[in-house]
Amino acid sequence: MTALSGEFSTPFGNAGHASSKIALIAAHVVSGLDAKVLVLNRHYSAIRVVDARRAFILLAKEIAEVIAVEDGSYVSYPFTTWTELSEFRREFERAQHDWVRTARITIAVPKIVRVLCYDRLPREQVKLNRRNIYARDGNQCQYCGKSFATKELTLDHVKPRVQGGGNSWTNLVCACVKCNARKGGRTPEQAGIRLIKPAVKPKRNPAISLRLGSPKYESWKAFLDEAYWTVELSD
Ligand SMILES: [Zn+2]
Repeated sequence: MTALSGEFSTPFGNAGHASSKIALIAAHVVSGLDAKVLVLNRHYSAIRVVDARRAFILLAKEIAEVIAVEDGSYVSYPFTTWTELSEFRREFERAQHDWVRTARITIAVPKIVRVLCYDRLPREQVKLNRRNIYARDGNQCQYCGKSFATKELTLDHVKPRVQGGGNSWTNLVCACVKCNARKGGRTPEQAGIRLIKPAVKPKRNPAISLRLGSPKYESWKAFLDEAYWTVELSD
């Protein structure tokens, strides 16, 4: 158990008094803990995506409630009620949920939770990292336009580092090995090639956009389409 406790550090620090409940969740888990959960703030604006592990901590500490879609409308549940209703859902909606098993019961992983208290969970910034750049560019070489497997792609500095180009959303793109070699330490203009589209900072986490294609995360859309969400993340 103690080995697992590190996984339960939250933006709120130590899990504290809720640790026994959380320990119960941690002790007997199945795959559902890796499912993704959309977190809303009090005003129903999407602020980030967390894995089920973290969502259950927010729920167990009574920092958040569950938001579920039922007959086309959104219904909120305190964690205890959600837990009690899981038996029913297991019987009638088994395929619609991911599941987490504790020592005593099996709980449906919520798709959405809403943070109830004041807004301590900051809005997620899109991190500038390799995975997000590849996701933004859809694994497509930004010079020749062809799609490649992740391992066949490289990160290219549009304006090369030797010419003072830095690490930024607007200066890093996916490039295939061939295009990268051809370009060498030159700018696209110097190399006589062009970007297929300008490099920009994504408005939302590219991983969220990928998940929106799945029917499983259908219920997220209403919250992600809000202007508030997209406006906040832009430059
Ligand atoms: Zn290429």
